Amino acid sequence: MSNTNYADCACCPRLCRADREGGKKGFCGEDMRLRVAAAAIHRGEEPPISGKGGSGAIFLTGCNLRCVFCQNYQISHQGMGSFVAKNEFANICLALQERGAENINIVTGSHAVPAIVQALECAKMSGLSIPVLWNSSAYETIETLTLLRDAIDIYLPDLKTLDGRLAKQFFGAEDYPRYAVAAIKTMLEFKPHQVIIRHLVLPGHLESTYDVLRWFADNARGRADLSLMTQYTPRPPYPPSAPQRYVNNCEYDTIMSWLAEFEIDDGYYQELETGSEWLPDFTQENPFPSELSIPVWHWREGYSAAPRLD
Ligand code: SF4
Repeated sequence: MSNTNYADCACCPRLCRADREGGKKGFCGEDMRLRVAAAAIHRGEEPPISGKGGSGAIFLTGCNLRCVFCQNYQISHQGMGSFVAKNEFANICLALQERGAENINIVTGSHAVPAIVQALECAKMSGLSIPVLWNSSAYETIETLTLLRDAIDIYLPDLKTLDGRLAKQFFGAEDYPRYAVAAIKTMLEFKPHQVIIRHLVLPGHLESTYDVLRWFADNARGRADLSLMTQYTPRPPYPPSAPQRYVNNCEYDTIMSWLAEFEIDDGYYQELETGSEWLPDFTQENPFPSELSIPVWHWREGYSAAPRLD
């Protein structure tokens, strides 16, 4: 049984029981206060999410999954970010809306749901009117998702793997498949046709991708889009247990043939490209390449004076 308060935290499947109200931290590395690393108008999401104006991404500090290959490891593993009160979080949402964001895209907030619900209420009372998008690993409990239900318009969950052995190796969470499947089914029930399921292909582990594609075809086709990501990028400090290379051409062709085999048409896939220029650096006011994003708020610099996208 999980709860959704911070005093005896069971907000996510880790069930740490940490007293976050008393200042203790669980696996996610965060106490009860909200910490944010950056907010930006982001053009690198799927086409309907980025839209014309860009997606208003807010990157939370901390993570309840902490993949060994996380591209945002500075904020998920190393705790980069600064504390924001709920009215400040609301102001960040409003600043994104003011700069033309199509939506508020809350990135990796699963460990901070009670605080986010309050902050979004505050933002909506202050004039936030664009849709709110939940961008998560899907390592979440149904109770926590239910707490969020009224606040979220669109879901963007990962389905990283259905293989408990890989989940243990890469996230230390052998139960990830069971929780992620239940979470995604709940999202599909809450908002049918407003769910995009993301899957990052792991080089050398194509059997995991095959299982995910089959699951999508059997369980979500027609009610969700699939976003197939082949951007895996090896870089230090990834530990030796993480894949150390890019997806190769042979793997890419195989995956494309599986999309045809499973008759998966609804969704998006990336061109195969190698290079690490796009990887974020959250020490910078704009953590992403300038063609991909315009900074709005940064954990050290505060609000940016950068102009809006037109
Ligand atoms: S939200 Fe954090 S403290 Fe709470 S159960 Fe999950 S990892 Fe543990």
